[in-house]
Amino acid sequence: MSEEVVFSKKVLEDKSQIELLDKEIDQSITYVESSGTSGIRGYGWYSEQDLEKMSNHLINKGVQLSENDTIMIRFPYTLSLPAHLIEASARKSKSIIVPVSSRTEMAPYFKLLSLMKELEVTVFAGNPREIEFLFEALSIQQLSPKEYLPKLRAFVTAGEVLSYNRKNYIELNWGVEVFNLYGATEVGNFGYTCKYGMMHIDEENFQIEKEQEGAFYSLSKGLNKNVYITNKSNCTSKIRNYEIEDIIEVLSEECSCGDSNTLIQARGRLGDVIKISEKEIDMYDIQEAIYALNEVPFFWEVHVKDEDVEIRMEYNIDKSINRSEVEQELKDKLELLSIKVLIFKEGELVNRGEIFKYPRSRKPIYIYNSREKKIQAEIELGKQELQNKNYKKAKLYFKNVIKEYDFSEAYIWLAAAIGLEADSKSLMEKITLYPSLKKYTELAIQRNPYDSFAHYLLGMLLYKTPEEIGGNRKKALNHFRMSKYLGYKEDISVYIEDLT
Ligand SMILES: [Zn+2]
Repeated sequence: MSEEVVFSKKVLEDKSQIELLDKEIDQSITYVESSGTSGIRGYGWYSEQDLEKMSNHLINKGVQLSENDTIMIRFPYTLSLPAHLIEASARKSKSIIVPVSSRTEMAPYFKLLSLMKELEVTVFAGNPREIEFLFEALSIQQLSPKEYLPKLRAFVTAGEVLSYNRKNYIELNWGVEVFNLYGATEVGNFGYTCKYGMMHIDEENFQIEKEQEGAFYSLSKGLNKNVYITNKSNCTSKIRNYEIEDIIEVLSEECSCGDSNTLIQARGRLGDVIKISEKEIDMYDIQEAIYALNEVPFFWEVHVKDEDVEIRMEYNIDKSINRSEVEQELKDKLELLSIKVLIFKEGELVNRGEIFKYPRSRKPIYIYNSREKKIQAEIELGKQELQNKNYKKAKLYFKNVIKEYDFSEAYIWLAAAIGLEADSKSLMEKITLYPSLKKYTELAIQRNPYDSFAHYLLGMLLYKTPEEIGGNRKKALNHFRMSKYLGYKEDISVYIEDLT
């Protein structure tokens, strides 16, 4: 790779979206973004032509959309790429489009199923977990996919890792083929599965390389980390050499479908890798193990704290599960000596009513890793100290979280700790604490502009401080109102009344 500009999420964070838009082209342009698990926002720009080029394989290879298809698109339409990508391809192929955005309450799974039947949907596009939930909505009604939806012929998935066993599991349940896509908000869709279910790199439109000691090389066979991707044909976005933070496996075999584009497997995010002594387990490994179990759970999630791995699984009421057998099966499959398996009965881990009546408004999370757990644990310890009025100790915990993880919420708690400390002191001491209270409360708002508690704290500071030394009743009122607009739970009407 000769270009020196390299884009990572960190680099994107420091640039404005508009800076990276190249609006030479005489076409409409779509803006998309994602907030990854890292909490840093990623974004991308795509013209109509860019979307079409990237999704041509949906017509020519893999699922081969045509004018005979009715495609139901169940990706979120708000800000996210896959819905718009697939829609571009469906328009080009002259398919009938049924847009049913996920993460809204407008189209719950039961509604989707009846629409699929009424409209004779042939292809359903959505996250793998959407398809699993859809199957559950079918099963609870004791319907069989083949009888209820005889026209359905394929699924198009994206947005999550889909291991071989998981793909197989979906295909067996439904009796329908699954075609998976692989991409990133920032550069677009660079991987697609062919008619044999193998994932190829779209080498016409993308250049994918890996970085090693400052130099760039082609991907090597096996696992690749430090992977950088360029969408060669996107004329709308200036993002090049984007660091994807995923593990990509290059397979050595050639595909018998006749497509010579390199075969890969998406193994999951680097941040989701579980390290246990010398062994590394990625999302692909975990899915391979879970979807090969004798009884696959309805819902599962992995919790990692240091070297302890806990897999929580919820099964339907009609299944009788032997916990220690499942645990042993998973240990064998993942080649780990210690895993803890927790079995939950129907409704104990997830509220079915919430899923099926009001779909979730966020991307599914499968792995809760050490970092998040450590942050939460330290914040909890800090909160406990705060309750016991040990302000010094509480502040230390929050400061430590800020120093170690730069975690936004810690600023709010630090400001709260200083505020409560100030409350407990004499007027003179209050005045000495004021500068740091002001500093951290303002930082908290800066870092969390839409946090109700942060606005409450700043409101309080401005309300309680005499005007001569920085208080401001008008501003205080605004922050109290903002706090209410953002859903602050405590009753603050006395302050608001006093200020009006
Ligand atoms: Zn192939």
